[in-house]
Amino acid sequence: MLTTFKDMLGHARANRYAVPAFNCTEDVMVRAILETAEECRAPVILMGLGMDLKTDGGNGWIYHIGLIQAVVEHHDIPIVLHLDHTDDLELIRAAVDHGFSSVMIDGSSRPFEENVALTAAAVEIARPAGVDVEGELGHVGGMDLADTHCEDNVLTLPDEVTRFVEQTGVDALAVSIGTAHGIYQSKPTLNIQRLAELNAASPVPLVLHGGSGTPDDQVQEAVRHGICKMNVFADGRMAMYRGLKEAATAFDRPDPLPRDMFAPVKRELQKVVAEKIKLLFADGQVV
Ligand SMILES: [Zn+2]
Repeated sequence: MLTTFKDMLGHARANRYAVPAFNCTEDVMVRAILETAEECRAPVILMGLGMDLKTDGGNGWIYHIGLIQAVVEHHDIPIVLHLDHTDDLELIRAAVDHGFSSVMIDGSSRPFEENVALTAAAVEIARPAGVDVEGELGHVGGMDLADTHCEDNVLTLPDEVTRFVEQTGVDALAVSIGTAHGIYQSKPTLNIQRLAELNAASPVPLVLHGGSGTPDDQVQEAVRHGICKMNVFADGRMAMYRGLKEAATAFDRPDPLPRDMFAPVKRELQKVVAEKIKLLFADGQVV
């Protein structure tokens, strides 16, 4: 069932685990992620991206979000429907109108005061509708999702955190501690000491972006030091592609059944979803 972002991350912070947040952009992903999370008794966040929702004249809002909203009630675990990265307040408004649980407003590439103003404007739109907001302070690089380098990262400063949260009213904060989006060209090294300082300064739960490809031991250290939500996209895409390649050569008939064609894609994605849930200590958190 749908729950609030704030409640979900509050439980994670109190119980020292992180909720996996999967970018979920195709129908087959909705089912694979929700069924696996339910099996693992884990809360889960499904994230939509503006670039997917706006395609085909906005059909992503109708079909993809309509599908998710129709099926969440069948799953007996807390689920959050979250809009990932946008700096577009119109998209925030659209997500609020379409019944999202929470949204991310990303002003992290702007100077502090501009980031505060944009984020506070998003909170003003979302809060009256009961929609929670994630902001970002510091900058997690690698937005093209394909060729990721960590050089454009800007680490979050602890002395800005309290001020940012107070001035914007955000419910969660994405911080930059050394991860990047997409597929790494070289392994990242997370700044756990910095994370501990950020967590001590932050009144709200912290979020780690760029979870794909980050070494497991570093991810777990990050969870132990305050990360309550981790975003995953690239690892899911790579898993689905493995399944797709297997499916493409698996049949000796020209008309395989749809469920057989998609089975390897779903299976590979399910494996990654289960791995991430366990990695973040989220399994068994729903009783
Ligand atoms: Zn991100």
